[in-house]
Amino acid sequence: MTLLIKDEYPEKLFREDGKRLDGRDLFELRPIKMEVGVIDNADGSAYIEWGNNKIYAAVYGPREVHPHHLAKPDRGILRVFYRMSTFSVFERKRPAPGRREKEISMIIGECLEPVLFLELYPGTSFEVFIQVIDADGGTRCASTTVASLALADAGIPMRSLVTAVAVGKIDGKLIVDLSGIEDKAGEADLPCAMTWFNNEFSLLQFDGDMTLEEYNECLDLATEALKKIYDLQKDALKRKYIDIQERISQQNEKNNQERGEE
Ligand code: ADP
Repeated sequence: MTLLIKDEYPEKLFREDGKRLDGRDLFELRPIKMEVGVIDNADGSAYIEWGNNKIYAAVYGPREVHPHHLAKPDRGILRVFYRMSTFSVFERKRPAPGRREKEISMIIGECLEPVLFLELYPGTSFEVFIQVIDADGGTRCASTTVASLALADAGIPMRSLVTAVAVGKIDGKLIVDLSGIEDKAGEADLPCAMTWFNNEFSLLQFDGDMTLEEYNECLDLATEALKKIYDLQKDALKRKYIDIQERISQQNEKNNQERGEE
């Protein structure tokens, strides 16, 4: 998406030492932190900080479909609402959901659907609300990644998690995980998502210019990066249960001590 006027783009997207403008190597991911169970009122939730992106996802379901006419008698439906907060970008973004948000909601839904057993939940809906608090490139990928964690946190049966990352090309070189400026001023941007139960891409978008060899190399680079992000997702899920286990054993110890004192 082109938002800056072309003249405002930096002339070069690499520093003199060969690093990217934010100091990363070509195939280096931005720092990623994830946490599950962050919204008490939701059935499942998760939060991600991916570079400068900050995004929440909250999941509800299976529950009654509103409006009723959307309900399907033979299966459940998945509804995704991706929203970018009006304060999440440098320029003021209109508060009403625009065409871009509707498109991104649709593609996130399409890449999450293959992992759900919607056929087991006729007449119901699963709703995923995604709120981008701070945006700096790659929000559709970070949103997909955090939404799949929130679905898992809700205890919804899934074939696997889904992980997403963007790869692309800037100043003639292939790179992994484009930042906002690299996304806007670079030559190509290829957001992809992987469903791990069948190792297939459930999202492949493409914007820009590259050769077929570069495209194939991009898919290999994406696969390597996706594996790293997948490990972080699994760690975030496990951490919640390790924390619960620790709290229970501390409580048990306290109870035993109190009983011993009586
Ligand atoms: P993605 O965030 O998935 O890369 P885009 O390529 O559409 O999606 O957008 C790239 C980046 O441009 C976003 O991450 C955000 O930083 C910025 N951006 C997107 N929409 C707007 C907007 N309406 N106003 C200002 N900045 C925006």
